Amino acid sequence: MADVNKEVTLAGWVQTVRKFGSITFLDLRDRYGITQLLFNESLNEVLDKNPLGREFVLQVTGKVSERSSKNANIATGDIEIAVSSFTILNKSITPPFTIQDDTDGGDELRMKYRYLDLRRNAVKKNLELRYAVGRSTRNYLHENNFMDIETPFLIKSTPEGARDFVVPSRMNAGQFYALPQSPQTFKQLLMVSGYDRYYQIVKCFRDEDLRADRQPEFTQIDCEMCFVEQEDILQMFEGLVRRIFKDVKNIDYTETIERMTWMNAMWTYGNDKPDTRFGMKLCNLKFPGHAFLTSPPALSKGEGAGSVDANTNAQNNLESTVLSKEEAAGNVETSTNSQNNADFKVLSFGEDLGEVYSKTSPPALSKGERAGSFETNLNAQNNLESTTPSPLERVRGEVSFREDLGEVYPDISHLINGVDFKVFDEAETVIAIAVGGCSEYTRKQTDELTEWVKRPQIGMKGLVFIKCNADGTFKSSVDKFYDAAKLKAIADAANAKAGDLILIVAGAEEKTRKAASDLRMHMGTTLGLRNADDFKLLWILDFPLFEYAEEDNRWVARHHPFTSPKPSDIATMIDNNPVIENAAEYLKHPYANIKANAYDMVLNGNEIGGGSIRIFQKELQQKMFAALGMSEEEQQHKFGFLLGAFEYGAPPHGGIAFGFDRLCSILGGSESIRDFIAFPKNNSGRDVMIDAPSTIDDKQFEELQIRLDLK
Ligand code: ASP
Repeated sequence: MADVNKEVTLAGWVQTVRKFGSITFLDLRDRYGITQLLFNESLNEVLDKNPLGREFVLQVTGKVSERSSKNANIATGDIEIAVSSFTILNKSITPPFTIQDDTDGGDELRMKYRYLDLRRNAVKKNLELRYAVGRSTRNYLHENNFMDIETPFLIKSTPEGARDFVVPSRMNAGQFYALPQSPQTFKQLLMVSGYDRYYQIVKCFRDEDLRADRQPEFTQIDCEMCFVEQEDILQMFEGLVRRIFKDVKNIDYTETIERMTWMNAMWTYGNDKPDTRFGMKLCNLKFPGHAFLTSPPALSKGEGAGSVDANTNAQNNLESTVLSKEEAAGNVETSTNSQNNADFKVLSFGEDLGEVYSKTSPPALSKGERAGSFETNLNAQNNLESTTPSPLERVRGEVSFREDLGEVYPDISHLINGVDFKVFDEAETVIAIAVGGCSEYTRKQTDELTEWVKRPQIGMKGLVFIKCNADGTFKSSVDKFYDAAKLKAIADAANAKAGDLILIVAGAEEKTRKAASDLRMHMGTTLGLRNADDFKLLWILDFPLFEYAEEDNRWVARHHPFTSPKPSDIATMIDNNPVIENAAEYLKHPYANIKANAYDMVLNGNEIGGGSIRIFQKELQQKMFAALGMSEEEQQHKFGFLLGAFEYGAPPHGGIAFGFDRLCSILGGSESIRDFIAFPKNNSGRDVMIDAPSTIDDKQFEELQIRLDLK
């Protein structure tokens, strides 16, 4: 209103034209919104001769005037422009769909004409949010001394578990670049070069089959730091995410971010990126011992966080205790001579020095101090080198304690055993979920749930129900086998209250655990417990370092091959031969229990970031490559540069990468990352707008000296 009577010039696109007798109203759209234009009688004639259509590009000059009927829904709803002159800058043919929030265009059509789709307010809002997330990220990282450094796109393969996209080299006929699956090795090299805090908002390329909501090229917030431990990284990037919440959503996310071990997540939620906005925890009525053989205690929330902290402190203490040559040498002896002694020793180190450490090293990195502590540590390592014969021994020397891994998950299978119910007796795993307030589900509803778990994606043979009636009685689909007392015992174990419905799945371990997890999510959605406006962050820690690849009977890196084992597991890695003699019993191999110094950040059931403390010693890296079945030649061929760099004073380092597209989509309350990418690809990896991928000219093949031989 302050602009009333001002003469202005506007340019934009025609949204709608409404003719009323001798005057015409027109809605003009630009990036900032809609402005109403009024063409009076004198201009109407001109308009009649040059009719304006949707999406015409118009420039108008006129006076701002107060509207007689105001529109409270738009920012400029109080005013209109009384047009004195106008120019049609360009015409438009009728667009294939309406350019408005609830458009009539289907997905395919909108993607084909994405440049028109992007004119829609709904899409623009998403891109604005993406820009805001990027800006907030850059500001935070800049303020924390991170440097944005570009890394190349035409590189050599960096295995991150996916297939590479390859690019033929004309100048080096017969040779190929790979597009980076992430800048992983480059960011590590930057640490070796001393750029102690690096970041980049960067494209990554992975040639994967595009399940649901993946893109072959996607964006990461990629970060790396040196002279850090896990705790430093967790705190730094909790800070980043809190900042993004504040800047982008105006949310003060001040609550403590829960930390959960991988094992605990699998046990309690059936997957490693649980949605903790709601409870409905799994009750493991029966599980194969081997799957949970050596695991940290099944802790309650508070305890869990505590144990991780304590663990990190213990590690920190360990490092800060390697103070003098004598002491360091002492440690090596202890750890190499007797593992049992080492256990004992370190635990007492942790206890003795916990307090001192917390006083001298505040968690959020007092930079100098932390670097200092590592210097000491590195000096100690150098000293160690002269006293220990082999380089691997040296690496082991840095480790002087072992966590006390115990068997802890309770076995309550007696609750379901002994009644000759074959379905449970023959199952490897039986898992119950108590669904709050659903005991009155009808037959139709329970049948629907049974069908739901029987779908091929879930693959269960059926579903067992126990209704915990409000009056304290039970009604179940297995009444023939379980009497009221037994049903009550199961209900108690599952934490079910009167009025709840217990759902039970049974079958092979992996499949059943996944089914239970999917069912939990399904019920969470059905009951409205997964509100897009609620946000719940979580760290998952202590992943297994290795996964078993059945086809090749060997180990693969669960995160990537640069991830360090937990300090307490380095000795296990070094001391054991990675070869799996007995495939059927691979879980008994010591490597199956090695934990990774890795962490994932989870938001509302999505993994939004993941990273690790890296291996920084050449010998340990070689051992890792060998464990993954790489010969020495292959190691040299693929990673000679990295192994070489590790010989020139590589600092301890670690990092993380966030999935930028996914983070944006969650913050924007959408299931689809495509909505937050200006020019996305479809499920077949095609850009339907530019029609890529496509064939290339014969001349291009000739230059590349490549001949096609399509099967
Ligand atoms: N490069 C890793 C990834 O893309 C992230 C990291 O370890 O920093 O998953």
